[in-house]
Amino acid sequence: MIDYHLHTNRCCHAVGTPAEYLVTAEKYGLQEIGFADHFPLGLLDYTPRVQVTMLSGELDVYLEEIEKLKAASRKVRVKTGIEIDYLPGTEEKLDKLLAEYNFDYVIGSIHFLDGWDFTHPVYADTYRERDLDALYDTYFELVWSACRSGFFDIIGHIDMIKKFGYRPRGSIDHYLQETARVLAETKTSFELNTAGRDAPVGEFYPDRRLLEEALALGVTITTGSDAHGPEQVGRYFLEAEKLLREVGYRELASFTKRSKNLIPF
Ligand code: ZN
Ligand code: FE
Ligand code: FE
Ligand code: ZN
Repeated sequence: MIDYHLHTNRCCHAVGTPAEYLVTAEKYGLQEIGFADHFPLGLLDYTPRVQVTMLSGELDVYLEEIEKLKAASRKVRVKTGIEIDYLPGTEEKLDKLLAEYNFDYVIGSIHFLDGWDFTHPVYADTYRERDLDALYDTYFELVWSACRSGFFDIIGHIDMIKKFGYRPRGSIDHYLQETARVLAETKTSFELNTAGRDAPVGEFYPDRRLLEEALALGVTITTGSDAHGPEQVGRYFLEAEKLLREVGYRELASFTKRSKNLIPF
């Protein structure tokens, strides 16, 4: 299996060095791992209320550290990824920055809605003040824009808005169907992210129905634990593998210098 969503101590809210994450990956016999720490929001001139990403000066050191690990790792292939917030209005800056760096893959994620970090437990009460139908509309519109932006190889935890268990009263099928359609149309991959199991919602991202719709449309998938500590590498991967096989997936997407390869599992 492949774990493409690993954080490190550089993002200010995770623990462990890349080398420590690799130790767990070796223990579980993972074929490939990729670091996808939080891209410095400062480089996009965005200042969140809490520091939740690498600091601007850390990015180069992060990349160097992973390059070294890549060269030294024998059993597990190591990839250099990054998790970048999709923030409308920052496209021009992001475009320039992405041209400067040599990532194997870029995960695009949404953690902010008009400055509200809806993924952070400290601000979870805000959901109570929101109209959940409008909130889901806003969130999924952003997901679709992120796909269409062309910046991202993979969309991260694509139905993250369910994290604290707040859901609209009606069916969410239309969001899932449209998301699968936009992924297919823009040839963007998405991930089965197992971290949701440890969140209040208690389920993987995304909903199984989205896994099914996306497969039917030929969308490719990666797997990620969203580990914020070395012990979380590959969490729930036996179950994740079983789920993917049940749905009908037989291959995972792997990326090298932003070009995709399919690997059977
Ligand atoms: Zn994080
Ligand atoms: Fe994230
Ligand atoms: Fe993450
Ligand atoms: Zn994440």
